Amino acid sequence: MIPLKPVSWQGESWQWHLANAVDEPAALASALGIEVDPLDTGFPLRVPLPYLARIEPGNPDDPLLRQVLPVAEELVPADGWIADPLAERNLEAPAGLLHKYAGRALLVMTGACAINCRYCFRRHFPYADRQLDGPAWAGALDYLSSDQTLREVILSGGDPLAANDRRLARLSEALDAIDHLTTLRIHTRLPVVIPQRVCDALLDWLQATRLRTVIVIHANHPNELDGDVRDALQRLAGTGATLLNQSVLLAGVNDSAEVLIELSERLFDMGVLPYYLHRLDRVQGARHFDPGASAPRQLLQTMRNALPGYLVPRFVAEIPGEGAKRVLL
Ligand SMILES: *Cc1c(COP(=O)(O)O)cnc(C)c1O
Ligand code: SF4
Repeated sequence: MIPLKPVSWQGESWQWHLANAVDEPAALASALGIEVDPLDTGFPLRVPLPYLARIEPGNPDDPLLRQVLPVAEELVPADGWIADPLAERNLEAPAGLLHKYAGRALLVMTGACAINCRYCFRRHFPYADRQLDGPAWAGALDYLSSDQTLREVILSGGDPLAANDRRLARLSEALDAIDHLTTLRIHTRLPVVIPQRVCDALLDWLQATRLRTVIVIHANHPNELDGDVRDALQRLAGTGATLLNQSVLLAGVNDSAEVLIELSERLFDMGVLPYYLHRLDRVQGARHFDPGASAPRQLLQTMRNALPGYLVPRFVAEIPGEGAKRVLL
């Protein structure tokens, strides 16, 4: 039995939380008092304790649980739901760097994530040989230096904040030295999943960079945003970073206008603007998260009627080969 919120882990570091995430279905079952099938989906269960503590015990339909619990539906093959829906496998040049859109390039800092989200479009991505290490590092920096059209570098992954701060500080210094860059953006779920990640060492290098910083967090449901997350976001905002959120529209998690409205309001209350609401990518094993084709229009209309424009995220999809994410509706 794992106690849900023992005082003993309140003071633990983010590294401790990364190392002690729940990855045994039996441990999850006993912590929450629910039944969990042991399944071999090829994408293991992984949920850190601060996130687990926000799941309602005894509720098999909890919207946070649904994002992390491996279920048998993942094993049912579905036409058109494929391993690499974004056709990224052969796009990378050099390794660890994706340059699909004008002005901005994306670095795959690490394949690691704090949490395994069942709907993730990269659940089948061959990370081990793609991340930025060793020789790939120098190649990526050369690329960024030599392309004068680039303004923004996006740190992504996996979760870039799963990398340690020494490595991140070194990278950020190297980016500072590239004159044509103006902006450093970080796509991360860690401040939500393990708020302890927003430690002094992270704040130090964020504050030190000359680049404008944008931090795009990832929350799908208002229950993901508790008091510890609020504190973490406040610390990030204190560095001068712009804070945005991206979500994925997921059946059984947030495919209700009420939930999405509450999510926008709670984000705003924590100093974060909703940026993108992504259409689910058609990745193998995720079809049970598909809210259907007609749901989004009604949802977005209800949100527009209820919220100021700046709290309505753009509903977007990534279409392989296009020069930007496509705004739908
Ligand atoms: C999503 C994405 C970006 C960023 O796109 P924005 O519309 O600027 O948020 C950049 N590069 C890649 C490869 C992406 O997938
Ligand atoms: S944190 Fe992001 S990259 Fe990692 S599994 Fe979740 S959605 Fe995918």
